[in-house]
Amino acid sequence: MYKAWTVKAAKQPMALETVDLGPLGAEDVEVAVEHCGLCHSDVSVFNNDWGNSQYPAILGHEVVGRVTAVGPNAKGRRVGQRVGVGWFSASDMHCRQCMSGNHHLCPQVQATIIGHRGGFASHIRAHWAWAFPLPEKLNFADAGPLLCGGVTVFAPLTRFARPTDRVGIIGIGGLGHMAVKFAAAYGCDVTAFTASESKFEEAKGFGANHAVSTKNSAGIKRLGGTFDLLISTVNVKLDWDALIGTLAPNGRLHVVGAVLEPIPVAAFSLILQQRSVSGSPTGSPVAIETMLDFAARHNIAPQTEHFPMSKINDAFARLASGKARYRIVLDADF
Ligand SMILES: [Zn+2]
Ligand SMILES: [Zn+2]
Repeated sequence: MYKAWTVKAAKQPMALETVDLGPLGAEDVEVAVEHCGLCHSDVSVFNNDWGNSQYPAILGHEVVGRVTAVGPNAKGRRVGQRVGVGWFSASDMHCRQCMSGNHHLCPQVQATIIGHRGGFASHIRAHWAWAFPLPEKLNFADAGPLLCGGVTVFAPLTRFARPTDRVGIIGIGGLGHMAVKFAAAYGCDVTAFTASESKFEEAKGFGANHAVSTKNSAGIKRLGGTFDLLISTVNVKLDWDALIGTLAPNGRLHVVGAVLEPIPVAAFSLILQQRSVSGSPTGSPVAIETMLDFAARHNIAPQTEHFPMSKINDAFARLASGKARYRIVLDADF
């Protein structure tokens, strides 16, 4: 018997239901969920903000649990092993992207909570390649958010920044506070950009060397030409022109926050300073494993608030209120 917190239609409260998962796929593993982080993307799918939700939906894509079954063709995973599952839970394993290690760019990649049953449940299933063995040293109870938000900020950081670089993290929330921790541990000089000056001290506690208000256009202008990399985690409109102006020659604004309004970019501000604007979704399986190792080595975990999973509707309301500091994790209590 499998149980899951199920959404019947957009914005309808979740109800606990019995689910038939059917036979286990030959390459799949089944995981008994212990903890599952609550991410802004869960709220977006809950609300159908992106127009691609499929109901009934079982949300939750920052899963930590133990393998309870492995399909006959699953590789390198065994019953009892502690694993994590993130935003994606399968890819076709044979396309050009999969074969070059970019499984997260596979045209057939399966989002864990859109047309697939997610982790606010007693069990979840995933292709073996997307169920990541967790390093022993990791703080398991708080590791869930690393699987989605963590790799989303870690992948561009290690791809585009060197440890000697000046890096700015825009938005100090669920993603941003993890980005500050990763960038500081990586060795960068880190500036936190946040609309709430009340978060300045906390951002410094996460490892930021400097903090700047995103509302202070004059303060942002004074930083002109200084950053090698900016990682934007916000989903609101900002003074993008001023922020791009803070990039050094060859600097890059990298967007991982799903802001729905277009970001205006002036061609000359890119051309003359040879700057770039880019984006990325989560990360490849190898990026996720590398991130988990790095987090275990540097003792990096998100700052979390825990709710029992039976309080899932309260937890969604808490996240929607904007008051969660900084990431919510639900502990399975079926
Ligand atoms: Zn997420
Ligand atoms: Zn593929």
